[in-house]
Amino acid sequence: MGSEPLLSNRSKWIQFVTVRNQHWSYGRRVLLGDAAHTAHFSIGSGTKIALEDAAALAASLGRYGEVDTSLAAYETERRPVVEKLQAAAQSSLEWCENAAQDLHLDPLAFAYRAMRRSGRIELENLRQRDPGFVARLEEAELI
Ligand SMILES: Cc1cc2nc3c(=O)[nH]c(=O)nc-3n(C[C@H](O)[C@H](O)[C@H](O)COP(=O)(O)OP(=O)(O)OC[C@H]3O[C@@H](n4cnc5c(N)ncnc54)[C@H](O)[C@@H]3O)c2cc1C
Repeated sequence: MGSEPLLSNRSKWIQFVTVRNQHWSYGRRVLLGDAAHTAHFSIGSGTKIALEDAAALAASLGRYGEVDTSLAAYETERRPVVEKLQAAAQSSLEWCENAAQDLHLDPLAFAYRAMRRSGRIELENLRQRDPGFVARLEEAELI
């Protein structure tokens, strides 16, 4: 056991495909969720984004009625939100794909690095969420 490679348990690492679309609609056809865009699963947001897309699309259709205007407004509202999350997901993906380079870190430092992988967790935010963890980082002079 001890000397076996880390992935000898048949775990499969999916080569994630990041979907981006130049246009989210064509005529009366419209994309939402993973069909329109994907975000690496390590940020755990794909379902949330898909549901938010659906809510925004429904609201836009309700607000404007006319299809072309509704679909354009839906995309205008959602695209910047999605692109921001995709950027965070890309950072997280790159860290996950290269996590081996941080395996020399002690567990506390590794956990802190993993938490910051998407670039969305700031120290002060982490302090609010888990003051005990931040206290341990300070004690170990990791921050
Ligand atoms: C390994 C992994 C872990 C993940 N973990 C998380 C997580 O922790 N949190 C999170 O928020 N997100 C997570 N995600 C992402 C999340 O699963 C997706 O972002 C989300 O399911 C997208 O929803 P969707 O409805 O757009 O697409 P889907 O959930 O893919 O739904 C599309 C549906 O359409 C069906 N379909 C496809 N083609 C056809 C066809 N021709 N006719 C009829 N039906 C069809 C499919 O069978 C499927 O049921 C993860 C993804 C992966 C791969």
